[in-house]
Amino acid sequence: MNAMNRKKFLQLSSLGLAGLSFRNPSPLSNKPIVISTWESGMQVNAEAWKVLSTNGKAIDAVETGARHIENELNCCVGLGGYPDRDGIVTLDACIMDEKSNCGAVAALEQIKHPVSVARKIMESTPHVLLAGAGAQQFALENGFTKEPATLSESADHAYRDWLKTSQYKPIINIENKKGNGPFAPAFFEDGSANHDTMGLIALDTKGDLSGAVTTSGMAFKLHGRVGDSPIIGAGLFVDNEAGAATSSGVGEEVIRICGTHLVVEFMRQGYSPELACKKAVERIVKRDPAKARELQVGFIAVNKKGQYGAYAIQKGFVYSVKTDQVNKVFDSKYLVEV
Ligand code: ASP
Repeated sequence: MNAMNRKKFLQLSSLGLAGLSFRNPSPLSNKPIVISTWESGMQVNAEAWKVLSTNGKAIDAVETGARHIENELNCCVGLGGYPDRDGIVTLDACIMDEKSNCGAVAALEQIKHPVSVARKIMESTPHVLLAGAGAQQFALENGFTKEPATLSESADHAYRDWLKTSQYKPIINIENKKGNGPFAPAFFEDGSANHDTMGLIALDTKGDLSGAVTTSGMAFKLHGRVGDSPIIGAGLFVDNEAGAATSSGVGEEVIRICGTHLVVEFMRQGYSPELACKKAVERIVKRDPAKARELQVGFIAVNKKGQYGAYAIQKGFVYSVKTDQVNKVFDSKYLVEV
């Protein structure tokens, strides 16, 4: 390297380093760690932690956590979730490991553990995503059982209530348990959560990242509608060099910007998880600021050091974190004051 090039190289390096340290101020390292969307993430984290704290793999931890919430019949994830406008529960899920192996199911009916079907697709087929009847056929051929097509009590109640007007309106502050938010309907006054997506991402003791998402999608959607949750790069993305991210909220907005892929790419550029999530939220808001005031999207992210963060369009998004030191629900920062 001649003197001129060397000078240039040193200048660029120092600029690069300065940029990185500014963007990633926290020197902390958290390993293992699991973070999840919403307050219900606390119980999911507890299950995932059983795997992580015994030196288990992140991929097993996230599947275990997702399966736990899929078992909860009175939760909006899994078969207990809210149906589409035809009264049918259709499930979306995906999973991704540290080697970028991934699997997903969309619009899957009557199968209890879509996340495990997604993992089976990842591990035993050359495909990434199976949808609808084909996904169900695959599940049945691989030992999953067909469950009855009945709605859970709370979903049935919600659906009957919704049928009175049959208006589709995404609920923005979906952790609003008291049912007093702008779009929150009265049937949530029993305290049941009115949201539909569990996304969790984990870093294991070995330093490997993985993530999983499971959902019944937006309540009262058109039959056949698929949201961001089973779309790799939209509802979930894992890159073992940079970080992992997942999302909750109005999936169409997340798909439009390849949301979680974007978040991970920002982390690769040196942004902290929180700033990376913020920049993705800004992308959504910039496209249509007026529309953004009417809807919610939240991202959560974790990087290779186990630093974590979140950002949402507006107030009301929360996320749950579990490490050796932390076991807590955090309020996400947000961009738009409504
Ligand atoms: N993102 C999910 C979807 O669009 C919904 C949610 O997060 O509650 O299907």
